[in-house]
Amino acid sequence: MRYSEMHLPTGREIPSDAEVVSNQLMIRAGMIRKLTSGIYSYLPLGYRVIRKVEQIIREEMNRAGAQEVHMPMVQPAELWQESGRWTHYGKELLRFRDRNDREYCLGPTHEEVITDLVRHDIKTYRQLPCNLYQIQTKFRDEVRPRFGVMRCREFGMKDAYSFDADEAGAEKSYEKMFDAYNRIFRRCGLNFRPVEADSGSIGGSFSHEFMVMAESGEDSVVFCEKCDYAANMEKAEIPAPQEGATEQKEALPMQSVETPGVRTIEEVSTFMEVGPEQIVKTLIFNADGKPVAVLIRGDHEVNEIKVKNYLGATQLELADDDMIFAATGAPRGFAGAVGIKVRVIADYCVMNLANLVTGANRDGYHLKNVNIGRDFNVASWADLRVAQQGDPCPRCRGRVRVARGIEVGHVFKLGTKYSQAMKAAYLDKDGKEKIMIMGCYGIGVGRTVAACIEQHHDRDGIIWPMTLAPYTVIVTPVNINEADVMKASEDIYAGLLAAGAEVILDDRDERAGVKFKDADLIGIPLRIVVGARNLAQGKVELKIRKTGESRLIAADDIVARAVEIISSETQETG
Ligand code: ATP
Ligand code: MG
Repeated sequence: MRYSEMHLPTGREIPSDAEVVSNQLMIRAGMIRKLTSGIYSYLPLGYRVIRKVEQIIREEMNRAGAQEVHMPMVQPAELWQESGRWTHYGKELLRFRDRNDREYCLGPTHEEVITDLVRHDIKTYRQLPCNLYQIQTKFRDEVRPRFGVMRCREFGMKDAYSFDADEAGAEKSYEKMFDAYNRIFRRCGLNFRPVEADSGSIGGSFSHEFMVMAESGEDSVVFCEKCDYAANMEKAEIPAPQEGATEQKEALPMQSVETPGVRTIEEVSTFMEVGPEQIVKTLIFNADGKPVAVLIRGDHEVNEIKVKNYLGATQLELADDDMIFAATGAPRGFAGAVGIKVRVIADYCVMNLANLVTGANRDGYHLKNVNIGRDFNVASWADLRVAQQGDPCPRCRGRVRVARGIEVGHVFKLGTKYSQAMKAAYLDKDGKEKIMIMGCYGIGVGRTVAACIEQHHDRDGIIWPMTLAPYTVIVTPVNINEADVMKASEDIYAGLLAAGAEVILDDRDERAGVKFKDADLIGIPLRIVVGARNLAQGKVELKIRKTGESRLIAADDIVARAVEIISSETQETG
């Protein structure tokens, strides 16, 4: 493409409302334009990158045996009522009515539509397994759209759904997608990790998020320094303490202390002159309507997902003031395990504490020198807290670290959640009717592009990996008004086009400096600079965007050399 004919509106100024670097660079490089909150247009350069990612996804999904379909974006309410999500999905689901007053939504995801499709077309075990995918626009009315196309409302997603006859088959389908995702993100040139995620009631290790490691990420990733354990914050396990891990302290006599208006851990810590690690927080939860007391050390946080899973509850929330009063006989802020009338579960971190401080279940009082076993009992011990940097690894007991990540993909074993609700059944070998086992697998296409920029940029602009680059090479004549320079540039351009390279000829009548700045900003991996002085020696300059390295190469060889570099860097890996 000739630069002079391209719609490539680059800009020098950093847009004031763009918080993250990928958003700034996508706007400055003329890749995207905001239409309204969370809704973007892709300009030609941006759309080429989107197509690259989609192509890699397609190739790997096809390789894994999935087949591409295309489902509608507009979905009838009836299907969502059948699955139960019409009422449960919340405000992210954009609902509307047609002229006949029928209700619809814009698809935020496609489990309902695909399950409906499959239940009509698949009748016997011979048609299973089946994995169908699409690359399509989703709409989610996110509360806080931000970071450009990273968290927007309208976005492109690859979503795949697998249907299997049994658990073993479903697990195999899951593994296949897991492997395909690894290949996809590797080919996109990303530094990523698959991390374990909460799989709710499914159990086993059948939910993984693919996280691109980046400071700007919205998610926290917990990973082991020694082994390959990695999980998201919701899921990250903490092992039970090892026997005899702490010294035994002499149990002192329990005392009641008047603490008027002293409620928070910080206030109690200051007032009682003890560290937060000596205080035990007692949180009353409402688990499906029943109160449960959860004990945790003052310097830790409760992980509500762990509590919910541990209790097998469908609904879990912090109890309201009435429930707290009924359970403790005191207002919020003074709960404690001593004498409490509800079930008490405690995090492992409380296990080895002695002479601890806790609420007294009495307005304005706390207890000190409380001891487990003597003063109260715990019904069960469990891992209920949020992981922290330095915690022991649940696999090898090495130390874990916490880093930021961007979730670009998610693989999930759904089980029979939708197939049961929507009756996607098949006849097995013995003619018995059985419910299909499903899996779902998503990749955010735009978010993957943004995540790539978060990892690959410098102060001059984007540094595309060869595999995602909108164009792989740019030919830059230093001065278009010099006939021999222009002739050589045109020849190289024609040669590259003939060799199948995606090439830009920067034929603008601009200063070389301006052209170099634009080429760096839009991140083209290879730049071939054609100038009069080098050309007199039969040479041109090849500059590598990634390393900044530049070499003089014979003008006659440059096409072959560039093509060689491009193909070696786009080769599919193992
Ligand atoms: P998040 O926790 O970031 O909201 P999610 O759990 O809602 O993500 P899924 O429903 O698993 O995401 O969707 C699959 C993929 O779609 C995600 O891994 C992500 O790459 C992409 N995605 C989800 N929400 C958005 C969004 N608002 N903007 C852009 N991409 C998104
Ligand atoms: Mg979401």
